Amino acid sequence: MTKRITLLPGDGIGPEVIESAVKVLKYVAEKFSVEFELVERPIGGISYDKYGTPLTDETLQTCYDSDAVLLGAVGGYKWENLEHHLKPEAALLKLRKSLGLFANIRPAKVFSSLVDASSLKKEVVEGTDFVVFRELTGGIYFGEPRGINTEKAWNTMVYSKNEIERIAKMAFETAIKRKGIVTSVDKANVLEVSQFWRKVVESVSKEYPTVRLKNMYVDNAAMQIVKDPKQFDVILTSNLFGDILSDIAGMITGSLGMLPSASIGTKYALYEPVHGSAPDIAGQNIANPIAAISSVAMMLEYSFDMYKASELIIEAINRTLEEGYRTADIGTEGSKIVSTKEITSVILTKFEEIYNEQALGVFTL
Ligand code: NAD
Repeated sequence: MTKRITLLPGDGIGPEVIESAVKVLKYVAEKFSVEFELVERPIGGISYDKYGTPLTDETLQTCYDSDAVLLGAVGGYKWENLEHHLKPEAALLKLRKSLGLFANIRPAKVFSSLVDASSLKKEVVEGTDFVVFRELTGGIYFGEPRGINTEKAWNTMVYSKNEIERIAKMAFETAIKRKGIVTSVDKANVLEVSQFWRKVVESVSKEYPTVRLKNMYVDNAAMQIVKDPKQFDVILTSNLFGDILSDIAGMITGSLGMLPSASIGTKYALYEPVHGSAPDIAGQNIANPIAAISSVAMMLEYSFDMYKASELIIEAINRTLEEGYRTADIGTEGSKIVSTKEITSVILTKFEEIYNEQALGVFTL
């Protein structure tokens, strides 16, 4: 099996964390008899400096020709004052739109060794493991009419049946492989668009009899994520509600440097850490590469159906943390603070260790 992956390291710490992620990808290729053809292209500020645009046609075409895209991050002080369409961040919006990425997926998993990094109590967060499916290309961010004048401003929250069905199916299919619970979040007590959302999701749920569907109002969901995050398995929600809930969910797990994401469409998929280019720490070999490495794990799971390899990566990260290795952003008293490159080497060593234990039947995932 050969898979073509476009690498878009971007700016700031992007190239550093992508270098770590690529090391892991190469390791997976070695162990799981799969070939990854890696093609690197510029995006963001680095692309603007060289070509006068943050996203060239060639970069976009390479993404179209790939099985998956792995992005680092874009942006930095140097490009802050450019016109809106030339800013590094404009490349991301254009890329997501061009690739038709309608589902944004963000896991919220608390590693037991990092429970103390959460702002919530240990007994509340320990064991949390859920994933948020946020609709990304519809809803109030794109609905027409929209406008503003001196007296008023307006936006329109609109969803078509097809837009709801396609993301709902993805969420239900994921729930089958997990704990089998989908919580659909809406505001059906106030909004017609949410009543419609609920009706369509309930109709899709009939195709998945083994999955339990729960409906929850968004205000209650925000409260429940903080009160008892362990109750969730898959959260399915619209663009606006998902924007807010996925940030709450992400933060209960601790640091920004730990959070991966996937954006998926009918044909294309993009994987990236949630964090930005962190210009304050760029070039110092201290960035946390775990979000980027976990994004590789998501790619293996969602694009290539390589579930075992994906779980192995997550377990390798888990063991690395359990043995006290940390980058500075997640460092706690008594932990071993190491560089980006060092923590990547430890993760690879743990990967090898677990792989061998599996072969001997000592450890099973
Ligand atoms: P940021 O995520 O880059 O950084 C916020 C803070 O978290 C900083 O203190 C940073 O050092 C720290 N941090 C982030 N990732 C880390 C990691 N992997 N390891 C250790 N520490 C980490 O957000 P920001 O400072 O608001 O934005 C910086 C630039 O990134 C801006 O130009 C912004 O537009 C851009 N940005 C890009 C993306 C993206 O490419 N997807 C996302 C968000 C922000």
